[in-house]
Amino acid sequence: MNKKRIIIVGGLSAGPSAAAKARRTNPDCEIILFEKTGNISTATCGIPYALANETDDSDKLNIVDATLLKDRFDIDVYLHESVIDIDPEAHNIITNKGSKYTYDKLVFATGASAYTPPIDGLETFSHWSHCKSITDLKKIYKEGVFSKAEHITVLGSGLIGIEVAENLKKTGKKVTVIELQKNVLPIWEEKFSIMANGVLKANGIEIKTDSKLEKIDAENRTFYLSDGSSFKSDYLLIAVGLKPNTELLLAEGAEHLKNGALIVNEQMETSLPDIYAAGDCASIKNLITKKHGYFPMGTHSNKGGRVAGANAAGASYTFKGAYNTTIVKIFDYTLARTGFNANMLKSEHIDYESVFFTTTAIPSFYEDPTDLFVEIYFEKNTKKVIGAEIFGEKGVDKRIDVLSTAIYAGLTTHDLENLDLAYAPPYSPAKDAVITAGFIGEREEDENIQTISPAYLNSIIKAGTLNGTALLDIRNRDEVLKSGMITGASNQPLEALLKKADLLNRNEEVIVYCQRGARGYVATLALKARGFTKIKNLAGGFAAWSAMKYSIEIITKPSKNGHSKANKNVKDTNGEILGI
Ligand SMILES: Cc1cc2nc3c(=O)[nH]c(=O)nc-3n(C[C@H](O)[C@H](O)[C@H](O)COP(=O)(O)OP(=O)(O)OC[C@H]3O[C@@H](n4cnc5c(N)ncnc54)[C@H](O)[C@@H]3O)c2cc1C
Repeated sequence: MNKKRIIIVGGLSAGPSAAAKARRTNPDCEIILFEKTGNISTATCGIPYALANETDDSDKLNIVDATLLKDRFDIDVYLHESVIDIDPEAHNIITNKGSKYTYDKLVFATGASAYTPPIDGLETFSHWSHCKSITDLKKIYKEGVFSKAEHITVLGSGLIGIEVAENLKKTGKKVTVIELQKNVLPIWEEKFSIMANGVLKANGIEIKTDSKLEKIDAENRTFYLSDGSSFKSDYLLIAVGLKPNTELLLAEGAEHLKNGALIVNEQMETSLPDIYAAGDCASIKNLITKKHGYFPMGTHSNKGGRVAGANAAGASYTFKGAYNTTIVKIFDYTLARTGFNANMLKSEHIDYESVFFTTTAIPSFYEDPTDLFVEIYFEKNTKKVIGAEIFGEKGVDKRIDVLSTAIYAGLTTHDLENLDLAYAPPYSPAKDAVITAGFIGEREEDENIQTISPAYLNSIIKAGTLNGTALLDIRNRDEVLKSGMITGASNQPLEALLKKADLLNRNEEVIVYCQRGARGYVATLALKARGFTKIKNLAGGFAAWSAMKYSIEIITKPSKNGHSKANKNVKDTNGEILGI
């Protein structure tokens, strides 16, 4: 009796996962894998980091070779052989070598190709590359980029563009990043992009946002941008998007998204009989909206490939989908996200609430208690967690994974408050960021606490429309002298403020802020209890304000009455505004 034959098309991530799982599921079937390049199972995600090495070390990224797949899993691997035609009805394929094979089941794992935007003159400029594959990496080394290029330009400030920029900078190159949108890392909310931008700039990376690379003059190595500016650069790395490699199945009528990604069900079956798909060529369900979305990530290609391989071999596994969890290192910082943010929720017309706050990754009494900036989104009626974004130096990864798990499990803000998370001072404060997110999410509505975002406060200060509103820095004097104050604020430490509260005008608008927001919350509650009606707390406090690089005044002269005063353009406004 003929053995069942499984054919796998594509041998990088989803393909080998499918092949190995198919073998573990069914020891008797025949498994053939076709890969059009000479590499299988390479760690693509390591490419940006490999760029920190000035010499070609790319072989380290080859995780598994064809011999191992044959010897360990009895998988026949055909390298440098691409599948050029698939006939779903006849169940056969044709390769570029003219060979024809029939299959019982087929796993399509062809990934996606890097997109090249239209740039006038790019065709005559030889010093450029994508950074999508090992082939690209070898090309970059071969062209002597590291020995010859002084200035490298990275087109695109998504995850890959930023990882590439950082690693190139580590080799001592001048690096410029060009981004079409208003902010770097544009899938995050603006406040986080602004924080990331600050770190990139502080580390010497030049950022040009709201800019399109329109033209390259190859002879002079001059790059012309849409804003009319130009600069010289020696090499261009393009990391601006992907196009799923699905033409073979689209031609056969496979269901797909607008971008060409194949629609699969939880079993990873395409709409074509006996054909599964996984990885960057496939679209999986967004578990929040229940609609199909495109999440081209290595974690999903592995999981999806595994399920496709198992099912092709006769099992019944499922891969439910994803919701945009991702993480990126930015020098000493980490930026991560899961689920939806405000922009995404608005475009899906989902009613939500959100809280933004600053806390510390570890307790303030322990060494180096760095800040964590957290924004969490939850459904308005159910209070289910539906998104989170976090930025900080330490502990971002563990919090985002807990919040991602909370989304998967359908946990509410009340559940977050009750989670039994591990606590010891070297790892987290007793009230961890995730638990704090639950506290704030739960109480915000009940207590009707009004907050103001750093971005909004900055906009009214810049527009000069703060007049008539008291902006009070309620930190103690040492903190103010150490770090300065928000431009236009006056210092009134919390305890002193509360003592004077009865003398103040309760109808004035008051904005308070402290270092991270907690004392501001206490002040807000206390002043509300004393009859103040128009009081707001600055979300995230001075820490978030500083991380966003908004205007700060350095305090040089403590005033006689105990208030600290900003050194320029700022009056001590306590007396006037609060009527003391
Ligand atoms: C620089 C970089 C960094 C990344 N970092 C991360 C990260 O940190 N975290 C994360 O989760 N993800 C990351 N990713 C994404 C991750 O690498 C991809 O999601 C994953 O590689 C997708 O695997 P795949 O098998 O679906 O597709 P691919 O990796 O694109 O592989 C598809 C394979 O199919 C072959 N092929 C195509 N057509 C044919 C054909 N007709 N016949 C035979 N073979 C064919 C191709 O040659 C290719 O080898 C990164 C990607 C890049 C480029």
